[in-house]
Amino acid sequence: MDKVLVTGGAGYIGSHACKTVRAAGFEPVTYDNLSTGWEEAVKFGPFEKGDLLDRKRLDEVFASHAPVAVMHFAALSQVGESMKKPGLYWQNNVEGSRNLIEAACDAGCMNFVFSSTCATYGDQDNVVLDENSVQLPINAYGASKRAIEDMLRDYGAAFGLRHVIFRYFNVAGADPEAEVGEFHQPETHLIPLMLDAIEGKREALTIFGTDYETPDGTCIRDYVHVCDLVDAHILGLTWLMDGKQSRVFNLGTGSGFSVREVIDHSRAVTNRAVPYKEGPRRPGDCTKLVSGSTRAVSELGWNPQRSTLDRMIADAWRWHQTGHYDK
Ligand code: UDP
Repeated sequence: MDKVLVTGGAGYIGSHACKTVRAAGFEPVTYDNLSTGWEEAVKFGPFEKGDLLDRKRLDEVFASHAPVAVMHFAALSQVGESMKKPGLYWQNNVEGSRNLIEAACDAGCMNFVFSSTCATYGDQDNVVLDENSVQLPINAYGASKRAIEDMLRDYGAAFGLRHVIFRYFNVAGADPEAEVGEFHQPETHLIPLMLDAIEGKREALTIFGTDYETPDGTCIRDYVHVCDLVDAHILGLTWLMDGKQSRVFNLGTGSGFSVREVIDHSRAVTNRAVPYKEGPRRPGDCTKLVSGSTRAVSELGWNPQRSTLDRMIADAWRWHQTGHYDK
């Protein structure tokens, strides 16, 4: 069975990707330092504990598994943290990715699927973004991901590393079978925080800013079901294995929801009250991040049919009530 090296395979999106990679007939080999991931989430293939900053360890793993492709999820990904500790993001994300890209090239593993982000676009109010939108990140997280995109282009030109870059919008939901799900420690994401607040596991949710220039004053995001998102990765992998050229795809749905709308839907789906209060803006947040999906749909055949807000909240709620990891 051909192997795919999945960095960050113990994390939220990476663990869902491993399940889908396995279902697609490849063996997912997880490379993860467990800084934010969970060993219990590595269920679908071998686990190689390691850090992206450890080039020797990366070389060992490429040599022992000889993967046909890399899916690179491992990264620090919190906008707020990136504003306070930019050095962490430049070191872990950018320097770590450089190690990984060089190790892949040196091992002759020339198919590379990269998790990038809509945060590379920055704040472009009231625009539905596409792959040609200008990239002007307003936080260190987005800047670090944009730098890795540039690096992939340079290594592609110099050494023939072919890549598919996926710019994610907001990822939500969980595996409907609840084998894996979203669990960060500490948690910073809207939907899991809200589900915790509903269950009384933490205090009321704080809405970060109610004075944005949006219809209800709160930020708007484009939410994609994690299972739809990882399906796109299999299509991206196939794209590369078929020998097609490097390409960038946005993974959004074309519709955005405000924080207040997410709260309203959560109340309806869970049939429970959502305790919340209003607070100040969080530094680094964009007003609105929404993307069309024309390119992914027409060129990859992506069909994000699970990405309705209610379905995402329902699947996240099921996982929330049944499964958790424990350190
Ligand atoms: N948000 C919020 N309260 C929270 C966490 C998030 O109001 O406790 C808002 C945040 O400002 C953003 C949206 O919810 O507008 C999604 O934030 P999240 O951290 O989930 O993802 P991000 O957009 O930063 O990738």
